[in-house]
Amino acid sequence: MKLEVLTVGALAVRCYLIICPETKEVAIVDPGGDEGRILQKIKELDLSPRYILATHGHADHVAGAWWLRQKLGVPVAMHEADDHFFRQPEAAAIFAAWGFDPNEPADILLKDGDSINIGNSVKLTVLHTPGHSPGSVCFYDGEKYLFTGDTLFVGAVGRADLPGGDFEQMLRSIETKILPLPEDTIICPGHDYGDQPFSTLSREKKTNPYIVEFILGR
Ligand SMILES: [Zn+2]
Ligand SMILES: [Zn+2]
Repeated sequence: MKLEVLTVGALAVRCYLIICPETKEVAIVDPGGDEGRILQKIKELDLSPRYILATHGHADHVAGAWWLRQKLGVPVAMHEADDHFFRQPEAAAIFAAWGFDPNEPADILLKDGDSINIGNSVKLTVLHTPGHSPGSVCFYDGEKYLFTGDTLFVGAVGRADLPGGDFEQMLRSIETKILPLPEDTIICPGHDYGDQPFSTLSREKKTNPYIVEFILGR
């Protein structure tokens, strides 16, 4: 796998381009804005887009998805729970208050355990990790990288005070879906909120206060 990272949108979302180096096929994870810059990067690297993947349905992570879908002709994939939840009027009203357009329907509704193939060398597994939002997911490449969206940050976890959020559920998701992965798994979060942009699971188990105190400590 080859990775490119762009920081996009007003809320500085980390948008990842997950690339199969052999075929140059790419999945775009969380295009939360600056879609023109994302498109330019894809052209510059001569990539063939296959999917737009959402770690969750918050508008700051998918604001650029609908324009890119139209430009590139590729499907948007999101967990079914967030596709449903964030198109309800109450949730759309919050996005509007943040200055975002409402979400459009996703093309592919993800479930826990689904596989997403990118070219012939990358296979992502969908881990449903609800808590930050009902349909938050992490994407795991099966060997090294975990894209955690707003569920797990370097040194922190996501907020759970937005509609559909549940702090205890988020901790359980981290405990049951993320902590069992290999210690050297590289954590690729949805925002660069920590002391470094990436981390490893072993480092987070030692230094992330939410994991240390609220999960391992109880
Ligand atoms: Zn979020
Ligand atoms: Zn976010």
